[in-house]
Amino acid sequence: MVVTTTTAASDEHLHCTFASRYARTSLPRFKIPDGSMPKEAAYQIVNDELMLDGNPRLNLASFVTTWMEPECDKLIMESINKNYVDMDEYPVTTELQNRCVNMIAHLFHAPVGDEETAIGVGTVGSSEAIMLAGLAFKRKWQAKRKAEGKPYDKPNIVTGANVQVCWEKFARYFEVELKEVKLREGYYVMDPAQAVEMVDENTICVAAILGSTLTGEFEDVKLLNELLTKKNKETGWDTPIHVDAASGGFIAPFLYPELEWDFRLPLVKSINVSGHKYGLVYAGVGWVVWRSKDDLPEELVFHINYLGSDQPTFTLNFSKGSCQIIAQYYQFIRLGFEGYKNIMENCMENARLLKEGITKTGRFEILSKDVGVPLVAFSLKDDSKYTVFQISESLRRFGWIVPAYTMPPNAEHIAVLRVVIREDFSHSLAERLVSDIEKVVRELDELPPRSSVKTAHVTVDDLHRGKAERPHLKKTISETERDICSYWRRISDKKTSGVC
Ligand SMILES: *Cc1c(COP(=O)(O)O)cnc(C)c1O
Repeated sequence: MVVTTTTAASDEHLHCTFASRYARTSLPRFKIPDGSMPKEAAYQIVNDELMLDGNPRLNLASFVTTWMEPECDKLIMESINKNYVDMDEYPVTTELQNRCVNMIAHLFHAPVGDEETAIGVGTVGSSEAIMLAGLAFKRKWQAKRKAEGKPYDKPNIVTGANVQVCWEKFARYFEVELKEVKLREGYYVMDPAQAVEMVDENTICVAAILGSTLTGEFEDVKLLNELLTKKNKETGWDTPIHVDAASGGFIAPFLYPELEWDFRLPLVKSINVSGHKYGLVYAGVGWVVWRSKDDLPEELVFHINYLGSDQPTFTLNFSKGSCQIIAQYYQFIRLGFEGYKNIMENCMENARLLKEGITKTGRFEILSKDVGVPLVAFSLKDDSKYTVFQISESLRRFGWIVPAYTMPPNAEHIAVLRVVIREDFSHSLAERLVSDIEKVVRELDELPPRSSVKTAHVTVDDLHRGKAERPHLKKTISETERDICSYWRRISDKKTSGVC
C-alpha cells in the first residue's frame, strides 16, 4: 500500500472543502485574489456565509415576494441568461411584457377607445416606475408653461408625509420640490383636502398612495379627484393625479372591486404597481401604466435600432434580466383573477387572525385598517416600561424579523411595529407569531422599570437642541448610550432600513 501525505497543492483535488485549506484561510475582502479556487469550495464558502442572513420567509418587514411555485422557479432558471433589452433577439419575451401591460391596464380600468389607449412598461420596481411617471408629469407641465410663456423652473409635487422614500428620491434627483401634507396622531395618510389646498400653478401632479407603506391604509383617491377637479375648474389649471399602487394595485382589484381609485377617475393619468409585491413575483419587477399616449411625452421615449428593428424604450436602465417579466406572465395565466382573489383573501384572513391575537394581549393599539393592504401595524398602549424597539429586538431571537419605526411628521412621537402578511405566511405561522409576541411581552414585563425607554421619544434633533436635558431623561442618556445610538441609527435611516 502506498501512503501519500496531503500537501496544500493537492488540496485542489479533494472534494471535501472542510478538509481543504480553504476552510482555514480567511477570504480576501478588498482585492480580487491572485489565484482561483475549486468551484465546490467557492460554493460552500459563499453559501455558508449567507447562512447568517435572516430567513427571507420570516422577514415580515417586506412586501416583496419570497416564495414562488417550483414550476415558476424552473422558468426563471431557464431564462436567467436572457437580457431583456435584446428585444429583437427575444421577441417572445417582449411580447410577454406587452401582454402583462395590457392585463394590468385592463385590471386598472384603463379606458378603451380610439383616442385613449393605455401604454406602459415593465421596470425594475415601483421606484423606477415612479421616476418615469414623475418625469412624464414634469415634462408635460414644462411644455405647457413654456407654451404659455410662463416660468417653468420651480416644479413641485404634492404628496402625504407618509410617502415611500422613492418619492423623495425622485424629487431630489430630478429637482422637483416635494410638498408634503403632514400627518397627525390618529391620521396617517394624506388628507385630500389639505393636499388640494397645497396645489399651485407649479404643481406637476398630486401623488396618492394606494396602500400606505406605514399602515397599509388606502388614501381616498376618489375624493382627491373630486376636490382637484373643482379646483382645476376654478383656476383653469389641469393638475393631474398619479396613484402609487405599489402594494395596493394587486389587492384592491381583487378584494374591493367597487372601490374607485384607478383610471375610472378622470384625473388619474398614471399608476405604478410592484410586480414583486402582491403581483407575486420575486424582487426585480414593477409596472407603470399611462392612461393614454398623450400622457407620456414623446421626447422621453428613445428609439434604438442597433439591436435590430426600431424599439421604443422608456426606462432608466438599459440591460436587465428577463426572468421577472416571464414569471409575472406565468403568475397571471397560472392564477387568473380567481387565484389572485383567493390568495389576497387568505392574506386578509391571516392578517385578521394576527390582529385579533395582538389585540387580545391587551398591550397594543392597532393602527392598520380593515380595508387596505394585508398588514398589521400596532403600537404599545403604554411604552413607559419598554418600547416597540425592544419588542422587535426580542422577537429576533425566535427568528422573526418585525420592524419597528417612528411615524413621519407630525406624528413622530408614535412608534409602531409592522407585520406584512404575504402569500407564504400561513395561519399556523400567524398563531406562532402571536404566541411569541405574548412570550416577549411577558418577559419584558418582568424587567425592572427602566426610564431609559423614554428614548422612544428622543430624536436626534432633541438631543442636539438639548431638549433631552429634561430631568426624566438626564440620568438615562448616559446609562443607555448604547440604546440611544442604535435608536439614532434606526431613526436616521428608518426609511431605508427594513421598512420597504
Ligand atoms: C414598496 C413601495 C415603493 C417602492 O417600490 P419598489 O418596487 O420596492 O421600488 C413605492 N411606494 C410604495 C407605496 C411602496 O409600498
